Amino acid sequence: ALIVRHRMRSSGRWARAMAILTELEEKCGTPIGKLKQVGDAMTVEMHAGLASEGGSKLKMLISYVDNLPTGDEKGLFYALDLGGTNFRVLRVQLGGNDGRVVNQEFTEVSIPPHLMVGTSDALFDYIAAELAKFVATEGQGFHLSPGRQRELGFTFSFPVRQLTIASGTLIKWTKGFSIDDTVGQDVVAELTKAMERQGLDMRVAALVNDTIGTLAGGRYFNNDVIAAVILGTGTNAAYVERAHAIPKWHGLLPKSGEMVINMEWGNFRSSHLPVTEYDHALDVESLNPGEQIFEKIISGMYLGDIVRRVLCRMAEEAAFFGDTVPPKLRVPFILRSALDSLLKGMELEDLPICWVLFAVSQLIIMGYLGIASGMTPDMSAIHHDTTSDLRVVGNKLKDILGITNTSLKTRKVVVELCNIVATRGARLSAAGIFGILKKLGRDTVREGEKQRTVIAMDGGLFEHYTKFSECLESTLKELLGKEISESIVIEHSNDGSGIGAALLAASHSQYLDVESP
Ligand code: BGC
Ligand code: MG
Repeated sequence: ALIVRHRMRSSGRWARAMAILTELEEKCGTPIGKLKQVGDAMTVEMHAGLASEGGSKLKMLISYVDNLPTGDEKGLFYALDLGGTNFRVLRVQLGGNDGRVVNQEFTEVSIPPHLMVGTSDALFDYIAAELAKFVATEGQGFHLSPGRQRELGFTFSFPVRQLTIASGTLIKWTKGFSIDDTVGQDVVAELTKAMERQGLDMRVAALVNDTIGTLAGGRYFNNDVIAAVILGTGTNAAYVERAHAIPKWHGLLPKSGEMVINMEWGNFRSSHLPVTEYDHALDVESLNPGEQIFEKIISGMYLGDIVRRVLCRMAEEAAFFGDTVPPKLRVPFILRSALDSLLKGMELEDLPICWVLFAVSQLIIMGYLGIASGMTPDMSAIHHDTTSDLRVVGNKLKDILGITNTSLKTRKVVVELCNIVATRGARLSAAGIFGILKKLGRDTVREGEKQRTVIAMDGGLFEHYTKFSECLESTLKELLGKEISESIVIEHSNDGSGIGAALLAASHSQYLDVESP
């Protein structure tokens, strides 16, 4: 009798778990009609954001890039790329004459988590110090013309309001960053002061968003690139707009007649977006509640945490992993807020070092570092498991969540869960791109025109989460239809934003007048 009761109980639990899964699937549904509505809403918001400052959730920021690389850029330039969990520094020797990169070197440094939530000076000092170290290793194969100051393209992957190409104030932090005293400050001035403190003689020649850098880098190698999309820790898009189509632009009409726009599409929202209770909870508990809603449904920082939340509910309400809820399932990715409140009102320097070390080590133990990317890499590994017994899934559940002895049936549900969440994100990303193409009138075949459209894409999510990128591409085809699909190409631009920033530094060099004939 006991066994029978147990069986009944466990089948009831299973049914409850399936109900949670089915409900999620329904709520995350992205039928093509809905995607078209999302795309249309994106187009509408683009118009509104271009019409007036603050006219839309889409900031449609003017980048002050009105000329994309031509291939003539020449000389030694540096780039610094700050945006996710790492930052990169890069030097390139540009050869001019139709786009030759003669030489390039880079290094990647991870940003200590406490610096993402500390003070502005601490962050910029750290970056400037790493940059100075890198500059010191400049050797053969790189050549700075005599008497010249080194110049830098600064890729800063957060929303910035610019009034010139080489300055801009931070509107807000996104992703895992939260440093109050940087908001409203000119980030170029912040970096420049930090470089001075390091005794590094270097000038920021261009401040660009990573989407702008990727667009510039993409265009350098391929003339048909007209837009760039980042799908990484965060997400965003930039594209080339006709200056005439920007009512809020009151400056001189650029010679090219064009202006690159940083959409900041991560902040897009629409009643057409399929959102669930899990998304609401994630948003409320995030560092930036109410902001970056599109980003929170799509990007790498959040996808894994959505999955975690669903699993947690299944564990709580359907005893999905047995009688107790695995404690790690309850730990949100956003432990940063814990550290934040821990340090609130206190300068890091004022705290006993052992205390700081303790706090940071706690975060590491709690899996903070792995979770900094929202567990999405683990989610990707789970989703791509092709072994017949879903061994990878089993191991992941064991390693990250401490859940042992899962049945094949359970593992399959976990994979399906990842599939639902990733598919929604990928299909919505495609809808966003569809919206841009519509805005540009490149979503239909035009009589007698053989126009190719290339979209440069970058970011860890796009690069490493194959099922995500495949789904994105097939959905875009589905949205566009067969005929036009053939002339629209998505191109992976591998770290195009670094080269792109260096190229824009070159085309905005203080020595340009000297150099040009
Ligand atoms: C930022 C954008 C950035 C994107 C991708 C978003 O969170 O707001 O400026 O381009 O992440 O890095
Ligand atoms: Mg990046």
